[in-house]
Amino acid sequence: MYHVVLTACLISAPEACESRLLPAGDAPDLQACIAGAETIARDWLARHPDLSAQGQDCVPTQDLAALELAEIADGVWLHQGAAGQISAENRGWIANLGVVIGDSIAVIDPGASRAQGEALYAAIRQHSDRPVSHVILTHMHPDHILGAEVFAEAGARVTANARLPDALALRGESWLRSIPDQIGTGALAGTRLVAVDITIGARQVIDLGARDLILTPVPPAHTDNDMTVLDSATGTLFTGDLVFQGGLTPSIDGSLSGWLDWIDLGPPQGPDGAPPRLIVPGHGPVSDSWDAATAPGRRYLDRLRATIRDQIAQGAALSAAIPETVAAMQDLAPEWLDFDAVTARNAATAYAELEWE
Ligand SMILES: [Zn+2]
Repeated sequence: MYHVVLTACLISAPEACESRLLPAGDAPDLQACIAGAETIARDWLARHPDLSAQGQDCVPTQDLAALELAEIADGVWLHQGAAGQISAENRGWIANLGVVIGDSIAVIDPGASRAQGEALYAAIRQHSDRPVSHVILTHMHPDHILGAEVFAEAGARVTANARLPDALALRGESWLRSIPDQIGTGALAGTRLVAVDITIGARQVIDLGARDLILTPVPPAHTDNDMTVLDSATGTLFTGDLVFQGGLTPSIDGSLSGWLDWIDLGPPQGPDGAPPRLIVPGHGPVSDSWDAATAPGRRYLDRLRATIRDQIAQGAALSAAIPETVAAMQDLAPEWLDFDAVTARNAATAYAELEWE
């Protein structure tokens, strides 16, 4: 297969140039690729007026820059994100990204930018030329979803919790403005938010042919738009950021008590009633044990709730409760990155939630 690769520079920063892979130009041979490349590039640029073109090329699949993918179960592939917070060094590529291959292919979280989505697409194409039918977003956070447009252009339907579109409408544009300061001027070149095609309001099965994915939207927890994805054929459960195992400090954009309730409920089960065999968190290593995977996050969230409840019971004002809570939880700090700052934000969110219990 051949692919159209466009060189484009930011009009606002002409020295920031990037290669953009345009899946609409995929062709079985070089001649067919060249025949369509100019029109494909022109159409794409018309939708990305912040970029100026420096010409396009046709590149065979094996020469594309590709993410590393590992097969963790039969037909289930994982790109494990870089450890740590987003930075210029890791370009924000910190989330775990999944690929499930049936007769068609589903992507579970397309990555932190157009560039990462393209590198994931290239990696998929190096393993399979089947159609990508779905790009599933586990939740709204930008390190997980900003690569979605690549897959939409490849024909995939964008699938997410029914509450995700509203949440993204509130925050998406400000993320696109602020994230380049953290990861580099050109790192989001060509990255745009996409519309959600399929909204999931209740448990729903997606048929990939030869295997099903079970999508379960979750009441507010890590965010108000989390969703888990269970591959029925292998029992692999993608939890997004509902599971944290140390490393990044769990951040609460949804509901502290809702999150603890979700952990207590136990994992969603497959059609045979069996528990998942593999747990894939949003960051960090895969686990074969639900209890082991959820224990560090549960310990953190439990302590946060108990500490905030104490503060409220003692009549502490919000401004005093935040530093008191961070101080009271210091024994947990060695397990987590950026503990004080994230815990301070979580304490404010949790105080507002628990004040009215
Ligand atoms: Zn998240």
